[in-house]
Amino acid sequence: MTRVKEITSYLNEVFPFAYQESYDNSGLLIGNPDAHVKGLLVTLDVTEAVIDEAISLGCNVILAHHPIIFHGIKRLTGSSFEERTIIKAIENNIAIIASHTNTDNSAIGTNYHLAKLFDLHNTKPLLPLTDTLRKLVTFVPLSHEQKVKEALFSAGAGVIGNYDKTSFTVQGTGSFRGNEKTHGFSGTPNKLHFEKEIRIETIFPKHLEHKIIYALLEVHPYEEVAYDIFKIENTQENFGSGIIGELADEIEPSVFLKKIKTVLGGGIRYTDFHKDTIKKVAVCGGTGAFLLRTAIVQKADIFITSDVKYHQFFDADKKIIIADVGHYESEQFTKEIFFALIQNKFSTFAPRLSKINTNPINYL
Ligand SMILES: [Zn+2]
Repeated sequence: MTRVKEITSYLNEVFPFAYQESYDNSGLLIGNPDAHVKGLLVTLDVTEAVIDEAISLGCNVILAHHPIIFHGIKRLTGSSFEERTIIKAIENNIAIIASHTNTDNSAIGTNYHLAKLFDLHNTKPLLPLTDTLRKLVTFVPLSHEQKVKEALFSAGAGVIGNYDKTSFTVQGTGSFRGNEKTHGFSGTPNKLHFEKEIRIETIFPKHLEHKIIYALLEVHPYEEVAYDIFKIENTQENFGSGIIGELADEIEPSVFLKKIKTVLGGGIRYTDFHKDTIKKVAVCGGTGAFLLRTAIVQKADIFITSDVKYHQFFDADKKIIIADVGHYESEQFTKEIFFALIQNKFSTFAPRLSKINTNPINYL
């Protein structure tokens, strides 16, 4: 039987929690990681109605996009919808997992899905994440070069774009002197020893750090393994905020907006059309006005997002079309991404798709 922690660790593989925004609170929020999964319900938001739905479907795990616990909680008295939802989940032994901005920031997450729905091509993150990569340098005796490299590569090191197993090596001499308690791979206790070694350099995404260091220590023959981890400024094209891509052909803005409305429903608030046809499209599901300047700099013709404030619409300034499609509308398909992933990965239970429309906003 699958345990709750297997769900979170799978999500961590696909949408690493390390890449959530600093203000976010994704991960297992409520529940015992060792509990068995009897059924799992996917949803955009967790509300009391969604907890009721989980109970009626026999689901003891809810996987949501938005974290029900977002800010610090000092008491649980049921005085707000969040508190009542949390209490209800705990009283009914329901675990809640959130996979929020880590899903948004993934090249196969929320924005990627929207880009596919809008028929965008040549997509890449609008604003790639920084501080996602690390460099590992380690020193191994000549006999163990291949073994250590293979272990590091199998743990996920050495991937750059469409290349894997990338590394740089150079030969040199290591020195060490062990005391009487040592039982080293080479050398004699209390005697200075020189060993021909290979310096291996390779790159890895930071969320794999524990796995990679564990792999290194497993195969490295020394009692004390020397290694350095460096923070590097390079960006990784796989993770970032928003997405930018192109339509196959130039089309009139009004035609494109009608198409978006057909796909998403709801209503669209938009600025004046500054050109007759559009081709380059920037998208950020959920609150995305912080990316407006980036979208303009990257010469997007239109920026599709939500939660744009009145004064922010003025910043379109004949440089771009801003289209606010609604927060719920722009993220409503996230649960389908989760559903497909969980369904393909786990066979001991069937995930369920919440049928509740959690959008708190109605349109007249
Ligand atoms: Zn959102």
